[in-house]
Parts: sequence; structure tokens; C-alpha cells
Amino acid sequence: MDNQTFAERDLAVLWHPCTQMKDHEHLPMIPIKSGQGVWLEDFDGNRYLDAISSWWVNIFGHANPQINAAIKAQLDTLEHVIFAGFTHETGIKLAEKLVEITPAGLSRCFYADNGSAAVEVALKMSFHYWLNSGQPQKTKFITLENSYHGETLGALAVGNVALYKETYRPMLMDVITVPGPDCYYREPGESYADYSSRRFALMAEVLAQHANEVCAVIIEPLVQCAGNMRMYDAVYLKLLREACDQHNVHLIADEVAVGFGRTGTLFACEQAAISPDFLCLSKGLTGGYLPLSAVLTSDKIYQAFYDDYAKLTAFLHSHSYTGNALACSAALATIGIFQQQAIIDSNRRLIAKMAEIATRFTEHPHVAEVRQTGMILAIEMVKNKHTREAFAWQERRGMKVYQYALRQGVLLRPLGNVIYFMPPYVITEAELELLGEVAWQGINHAVNN
Ligand code: PMP
Repeated sequence: MDNQTFAERDLAVLWHPCTQMKDHEHLPMIPIKSGQGVWLEDFDGNRYLDAISSWWVNIFGHANPQINAAIKAQLDTLEHVIFAGFTHETGIKLAEKLVEITPAGLSRCFYADNGSAAVEVALKMSFHYWLNSGQPQKTKFITLENSYHGETLGALAVGNVALYKETYRPMLMDVITVPGPDCYYREPGESYADYSSRRFALMAEVLAQHANEVCAVIIEPLVQCAGNMRMYDAVYLKLLREACDQHNVHLIADEVAVGFGRTGTLFACEQAAISPDFLCLSKGLTGGYLPLSAVLTSDKIYQAFYDDYAKLTAFLHSHSYTGNALACSAALATIGIFQQQAIIDSNRRLIAKMAEIATRFTEHPHVAEVRQTGMILAIEMVKNKHTREAFAWQERRGMKVYQYALRQGVLLRPLGNVIYFMPPYVITEAELELLGEVAWQGINHAVNN
């Protein structure tokens, strides 16, 4: 079997995510045969460096021996069991670990099975907490411009990326959208911290005005990933925590994309020394192996649901695969690797290497900004460096980078005109250099064709 055979069979029956399927009339579908570390291999023997961690999920490489072994052992014991009325050792151990490693005060763990579902859980829990606490008028959510929280209807409603949201707007609940701290728009010479705190004034105003009807503010700490990897300073989170406390509004930290070391600390909230009321985790949670998410919350919130059944205050939300034992075993093994191998410390070397690679791009005539937060590096490709005029989206320049890089054996998947590296933490410095070189050539190719 070769690539073409599988591609034909695929295109005859499958409908792929986030894809205009007609593109595949000219864009080859790539059937992957196997993965090893940062490398993927197709059925024709071509290899691709997975520079985006397969949609930001894979952190310790494909076919990681430790995670493989954990899942295999779990498989021979218990694959899955209903998680209402029943429990299992792996699910308990994972919840204990998550409570231990997440910011202080988060002492309860609720499982779901993907990032969007975690966001739905946090939104519903927040609303329901206020209802149970005699504040039924709190029904609204505050979100930031350019935010992204997933594709299910609640998650999409609190997101703000027009490309994904606009089509479905008539189906979505109303939210309060506040201009964000995206530091791409800071004044020349203004620091990230200054811009982020200056922009907080807009949030403070909205909170003061609407707190009485607002359940929570939902935010992606430090990096708005799907919103073109736009970044801001931790001071914004610190100010937001204070204001939420002052106004009696929950803070939902969506660390689905940035959790598990992406920003340089295990959780991004650590950089602001804050604890959210709800912490949403997924993606890296299982090392990129299996769908699982978790919402961590406080005892105070848990207690507002804890009462006699007849009071009807329970959180009756469920998913069939809640607490799946195989997924929990992958997550436990993943956290084990973080702890045994002191990954947060060892990543510093990779983060410095990424910064070194980035310097070359700052002078590129079609790059407006190079930004980095920990293990995320983004390069903003523009038509005009000085005015920052963007390439028209119809030109699909990012797609040209994607296609060029694939031919060079690198999987980059730009967001619009933003090329980014978000590699697994098992990448080597030499592989990072290869990435930098291919991205450089890819940008040159894309701006000239
Ligand atoms: N929140 C954030 C911040 C995300 O980046 C994503 C996915 N990219 C989600 C939520 C949704 O997660 P999932 O795709 O697993 O539903």
C-alpha cells in the first residue's frame, strides 16, 4: 500500500476537521504509517518533522516508550468503566496528581474528553454555582477579543476568532467581548508589561459595569494560540485575578493549549502567581495520545453543589467516556515524565535555542514581529514590514509555507500568515535548526510566489 492508494480511499469516505475538502483536489492527503519521536513517516517512506506537535497535543514524542508501556499495562487490567457510581485506581491517582501539581486552591477534578468539553463544563459549573448560591441573575460571560476556546456551541460563543465563529453566530449565546492585551498592537518602544496593564483598564471598566450579571471571565493565559499565537504579559492575569475577586466574578483559565510546559512553566498561571476558579486542561495532558480533559476547581465551588438530592443542586453533566482509564494512564505516565526528568528545567535549553533561531527572522523584509513565550515561537509574515499591512487572506501565503515545508520534510501548519513552532519537548537542537532553516526558506518562497 502506498500514499496514493490510502489517499484515494480516504477521500472517498472521510470528511476531515477544519478542512475545505475541495482543497484536496490539488493538495495531497498524507497518510501516516508510523511515528517515532518528533518524526512522522508516510507510506511512501517520506519523513516529516512534527513541528506543531500534531495540533499542540504531543509533548514527549510519538511512540514514547514510557507512555506506551503505561497504556499497555492499563489495557490488560481495565480499559474503561462507567464513572458514575464507579471509579478506578488510575482515575483517582491522576486526580490526586493534578490537584498536587496545579496552582494552590484547586482541589477538585472533573473529567471530560476534549478541550471544548472542558470549557463547556467550566461555563456550566460557573453559571450553576451562582444559581445554587442565590444569584440567578448571573448568566453572562466575559471574553477577550481574538480568543479561542473550542468548537462546541458554548465554547464557540465565548471564543472570538471570526473565521470559526461568524457562520454560526445566530446559534450562539450572547457574550460580553472586551478588547484584549494582544501585544502585537503595542506602541513602538512600549513593553509587553506596560501595554498589557494599560489594556487592562478596558477590562476593569467592563467588570465594574457588568459584574452583577456576569458569571465568569474566560481567558487563555499568556498566549492566544488559535488567534494567531498572539501574546501578552502575565501582569494582565494578576490584575484580572484581583478584579474578579473584587467584583465577585469567577476566573476561568483555559490552559488547554498552554498547559503542561508550553509557556516555560508547567502552567501559564504560575507566571502570574494566580489560581483561577476553574482550570481547563487537555491536549498535552495525555502526552498527545488519547482524548481526555480535566477541569480543576476549588472546594468552595464544589461545596455549592453538595447537598441532599432533593434540593436538585447536583452537577448532572456527563460524557460516556468520562475518566476513561486508558486516557488516564497516558496522563499519569506523562506527568511522571515531567517529574522524573525535570522537564521544565531541561526545556530551558530548547527555549534558548528557539530564541537564537528567532533572531534571524526579525530582520526579514516580510516579517513584522517574532514573538516567543516558552516553547512557542511565532513569526508574523506581512506584506509590508513598515506599515504592517497584512497579505490578503485570499492569497493563502501561509498555505504556501505549509506546502513548501512539507516538501522539505517538515510539518508546519501556519495560522493564516503566522508561522509558528510548537514542537514536542523531545526535539533536538539540530532539529530546531532544521526547522528554522525550512521556515526561512518557506517564507522566502511564499512571499515571492
Ligand atoms: N481551548 C483552547 C485554548 C484551545 O486551543 C483549544 C483547541 N485548539 C480548545 C480549547 C479546544 O480543544 P479541543 O480541540 O480538544 O476541543
